[in-house]
Amino acid sequence: MRLPRWLRRALAVAGVLAFLLATGAAALFAWHRTQLLDSGGPLRPRQAAVDVRRYDLALRLDPARREIAGRNRATLAIVAPLDAVELHLDGRLTVRSAHVDGAPARFVHRRGLITVPLERPFAPGERHVVEIVYGGRPKVAAFPPWLDGMVWRTTPSGAPWIGVTTQGDGADDWWPCKDHPSDEPDEGLSIELTVPSPLVGLASGRRVGATENPDGTTTTRWEVSYPINNYAVSVNVGPYVPIEATYRGIDGAAERTIVFWAIPEHADEARRLWTAQGARLLEVLGRRFGEYPFWKDKYWVAESPYLGMEHQSLVAYGARFEDNDDGFDELLLHETAHEWWGNKITARDWADFWIHEGFGTYAEALFVLDTAGEEKYLAYMRRLARRTRNRTPIVRGPDALAKDAYIGDIYAKGACVLHTLKWLVGDEAFFTVLRRFVDADRPEACRLVATDELERLVAEVAGRPAPWFWERYLRRAELPRWTLSRVPVDAEETAERTAAEGTAVTAERTADATDEITLSWDDPAFELPLPVTVGGVARRIDMPSGRAAFRVPAGAAVEVDPRGLVLAAGELPRAAGDAR
Ligand SMILES: [Zn+2]
Repeated sequence: MRLPRWLRRALAVAGVLAFLLATGAAALFAWHRTQLLDSGGPLRPRQAAVDVRRYDLALRLDPARREIAGRNRATLAIVAPLDAVELHLDGRLTVRSAHVDGAPARFVHRRGLITVPLERPFAPGERHVVEIVYGGRPKVAAFPPWLDGMVWRTTPSGAPWIGVTTQGDGADDWWPCKDHPSDEPDEGLSIELTVPSPLVGLASGRRVGATENPDGTTTTRWEVSYPINNYAVSVNVGPYVPIEATYRGIDGAAERTIVFWAIPEHADEARRLWTAQGARLLEVLGRRFGEYPFWKDKYWVAESPYLGMEHQSLVAYGARFEDNDDGFDELLLHETAHEWWGNKITARDWADFWIHEGFGTYAEALFVLDTAGEEKYLAYMRRLARRTRNRTPIVRGPDALAKDAYIGDIYAKGACVLHTLKWLVGDEAFFTVLRRFVDADRPEACRLVATDELERLVAEVAGRPAPWFWERYLRRAELPRWTLSRVPVDAEETAERTAAEGTAVTAERTADATDEITLSWDDPAFELPLPVTVGGVARRIDMPSGRAAFRVPAGAAVEVDPRGLVLAAGELPRAAGDAR
């Protein structure tokens, strides 16, 4: 059989289209894959054999060529026998040399991993320095801060404006490192940053010096005095102008200069924002979480050519200088809150990414609570609850990669989980947990944390564990769902059953006729008490074995959680006579 000519032509056209679509999709997929590097995951044995004590970085940026030239000296404490040192560095960059304890060393740089074989194996207890000199054209961020890399932009007047984001990729986009959240340089990090004059080069840490070089560049030196996660190490370069404000500490006894570095075009807007909110944020957050953690370094904010990032002691701000409906700059507050949640305490495994984003987002709501009151706080939380997706569990571990752990629900849903925890354990226990988790009484005590530490802390402070709470909210995707049924009970039967069952059924004896309400969770193991109002009066209904039954006057209005105190799904029955 022969197909008609028109059909053969149509099939040929369809075939070509399908081919183009498939190759286009494959190319897009391949491109997308190169835009996400691995960070975290299972530790490689050679990574696990070292404990990074310190990094000493030198970086020269060439905006005209979009190139960098760098050197990193990693000081390592050896914790297990080691035959070769491994550090990650993106394959787009070229390693020029390697040195071990000052002596030239062989190296292999393949698939983003530098391997430096050792002439003599390292033994536990030893301390060694591995230096890598490298350079080239680093990965350019396709969509910072979500698709990472260097950001080479220009200001409206055409001056170079440079930044970098690496939360998803890890710092191996631009310097060689142990690319894993479980290891931070305990003895700090230094940066020597060289940029063309008269651009202002800013970096993480305290500024300890600057030199004008004969070649028309300026080198500034920075010392980070705290452990730092590799994605929070940053530089910002541009024709910046400093805008200063004074912060007096949570008890009003300090006097510290805090600086916002703006590009000249935005100096007025930045001044308005910084004067009104810079110190205020630190004060309000500090009262909840303890004093700002990095005073040996600084609290600076740099205007960035991308939305923002929680770079330690040099927060990146690239929003529009616009306040939200609650009267504050949400981006500035969120990124600043990460100085406690993400930088002071840091998830050891990306599986617990929500500790950064959930607490960071919840800090926004707490700011509203502390500055605008409870009703506004609840409204903020209801808006966050509407943003939850509930398609993927928040915690998926262990040994997660940053790119796999990063889902939308770690933000709003993470915050709602904390809000629900507040309802479960009560304000006093809840705020005690927050302060102890973030070590509020020891402002400069950085440490690595995990979700199970939080679970144990809640059990200890609240007096009993609630494994079902964490299991349902963090390790399962779908929201807990309640159902309510309402059955009219005639007066005689009410009297009989009350007499027969004693206190088993809580009866409202004020009215002759009552309705029996049964509330159940979709899982008998889930025992979250529910806020219910009956005729406008709020009650807390305990849900042992996921269930409760009680009586209300016939026709009384019953509402489950009208104020949004818990994160849950549920629906009241639409039965006739149900007065809502
Ligand atoms: Zn964040």
